[in-house]
Formats: sequence, C-alpha cells, structure tokens
Amino acid sequence: MDDDLQNLSLPEEEKQRLLSALQKMVEMGIAAVYGREDVGVPDAAVDCGPRLRDCRARCCTLAFALTKEEVAKGLISHNPTRPFFIARDADGYCPHLDRNTLRCVCWEDRPLRCRRYDCRADDTA
Ligand code: SF4
Ligand code: SF4
Repeated sequence: MDDDLQNLSLPEEEKQRLLSALQKMVEMGIAAVYGREDVGVPDAAVDCGPRLRDCRARCCTLAFALTKEEVAKGLISHNPTRPFFIARDADGYCPHLDRNTLRCVCWEDRPLRCRRYDCRADDTA
C-alpha cells in the first residue's frame, strides 16, 4: 500500500499526510493494508488433523488482511465494515470453516495467510 501511495502523482507533503492517516487507521483497527504475496515462501506443512482436538482451529479466528489478488478473485469473504480483513462470524470463526469438522471448506482457495500460518512451535496447538 505504501508503494501504491508513493506512485500517486501527489505532492510529497500530501503523500506523507495520507500515509500518516492510513497508518493511524490501521493502528486503530479500522483499516487494513493489503497483505503481501511474499513470493517464494512455501506454505506451512502443518498436519492439522491430529492437532484439531486441542487447537480447535484457533487460527481460523485470527484477523488478517486479504491480499489484493484475493479480494479481486472474490472467493473469500471479507468484513464489510473493516475492508479488507477476512470476515469473521459472531462466534469469532471464519465463515469458511465447517463448524462440525473444523475443516476449511475452501481449502484449495484459502488465503495466503492461512497457507503460511504455522502453529507447530506453539505450546497449545
Ligand atoms: S494450522 Fe494449527 S491452529 Fe490452525 S487448524 Fe491447523 S493445527 Fe490448528
Ligand atoms: S479461509 Fe479456511 S483456513 Fe482460512 S481462516 Fe477461513 S476457514 Fe480457516
């Protein structure tokens, strides 16, 4: 997002004002910058099956911003009041999580942040 702003043909002072306002909104949790693609970073190879009993898919309650590409594809729900954070239901879970199996119903198309999330060093998952 910083790069996008830097590419705008605005006076430097105006760009800095916009960047500062954006940063403040992000800190307040009322805006998100798009996630980066982090090209070349492999997906985390977590075998979720045996861990689900303990973790209860807690990674599917985390808040993160979708990438620009994910928003454009439109396959993953985002929060209409906090664009473009991933959507969360009233129970805190992602709408793409099957509550009975605790499995992602859009596994093949899950967001980059879900692909890269690695809980294996955590104590509780
Ligand atoms: S990535 Fe970790 S926390 Fe998330 S569902 Fe799999 S085992 Fe659980
Ligand atoms: S998209 Fe799938 S893996 Fe990602 S948070 Fe939602 S249910 Fe979990």
